[in-house]
Amino acid sequence: MQAQPTYLSDLTPDKLADYLQSIGQPKFRAKQIFKWLHQKLVTDFAAMTDQPKALLQTLQDTTAIAAPVIRRRQQSKDGTVKYLLELSDGNCIETVLMRYKYGNTVCVSTQVGCAMGCRFCASTQAGRVRDLTPGEIASEIYTAQKDTGERVSHIVLMGIGEPLHNFDNVMDFLTIISCSEGLNIGMRNISLSTCGLVPQIDRLAQKHLQLTLSVSLHAPNNAMRSGMMPVNDAFPLEQLIPACRRYQKETGRRISFEYSMVKGVNDSPATAKELAELIRGMGAHVNLIPINPVDGSPYSATDEANVRRFQKLLEDYGVNATVRRRLGTDISAACGQLRREDAKERKPGP
Ligand code: SAH
Repeated sequence: MQAQPTYLSDLTPDKLADYLQSIGQPKFRAKQIFKWLHQKLVTDFAAMTDQPKALLQTLQDTTAIAAPVIRRRQQSKDGTVKYLLELSDGNCIETVLMRYKYGNTVCVSTQVGCAMGCRFCASTQAGRVRDLTPGEIASEIYTAQKDTGERVSHIVLMGIGEPLHNFDNVMDFLTIISCSEGLNIGMRNISLSTCGLVPQIDRLAQKHLQLTLSVSLHAPNNAMRSGMMPVNDAFPLEQLIPACRRYQKETGRRISFEYSMVKGVNDSPATAKELAELIRGMGAHVNLIPINPVDGSPYSATDEANVRRFQKLLEDYGVNATVRRRLGTDISAACGQLRREDAKERKPGP
């Protein structure tokens, strides 16, 4: 079996400098090559015209650059573009570009599949296949930017996978994407969403990043939450909520809670009250979103009027809440569905 080449696109500036030094190259090359990879977004060594030919030949022979292929592309009437990207090993992931007034946001996947098992989520139905590397996550943004010819200014880590279950690679990705020699996307323009892995929330707090942490709450008591999210058995609310408070204290950043609304499960007025009591006084923000029903799931969405009523109740109880604007509803099934459909279609193949 051939050894995996080193993917240069996975390396943070420091790691790239170390690597180049280890093959006898001066450190200043690292800055130049990093810029080619992460600012000029080239995926071909031959394009690095300021580098010595012999070095480029060596890199070509022994290293690689993440360069996913667009396998499918769907564009919504509202401008949202959804990509199914094929990675170098044939695995597929989803990436979505959304156009807002303040700029373009890309929603990235962080793993192939997911191990967390949330019952309403399409991404986790076939489990986790593998983690994405830092360069693969960055390449999702580069692919969307090159495809549209438009700058990406914001990132949400809300695609397939649990970012805190791929902690080290996600941290290196954040270093790469926020670096001034790269796309220079500020941490304040980045949101990371987690299903609530408590030890990793504490680890993240210690990094003191200025990103927004979103926690997928979805229910205000353990019985309800465990029914929707198996992760709640490992880290129940009496651990998760204090971890959120610690995170806010440590980083000085407000948390935002995701709350996907499921008809007849977590959308009653009594539940709104319970939710408000759980998180009141944290200054946190609640993002309400009607669940996007997926195949094989018993859940259906709370209707619009009920979502508004729930929002109003939260506000009356002193909790700040918004209803997430839904983009790309005409193309997108819930995130993770395009990959599932594609896998099903490919199975009977040759
Ligand atoms: N693993 C991370 C990030 C990926 S999911 C997390 O759990 O937060 C991004 C958000 O979409 C999460 O809040 C998740 O609970 C929610 N989500 C997943 N499937 C959904 C669906 N079918 N309808 C509505 N929200 C969904």
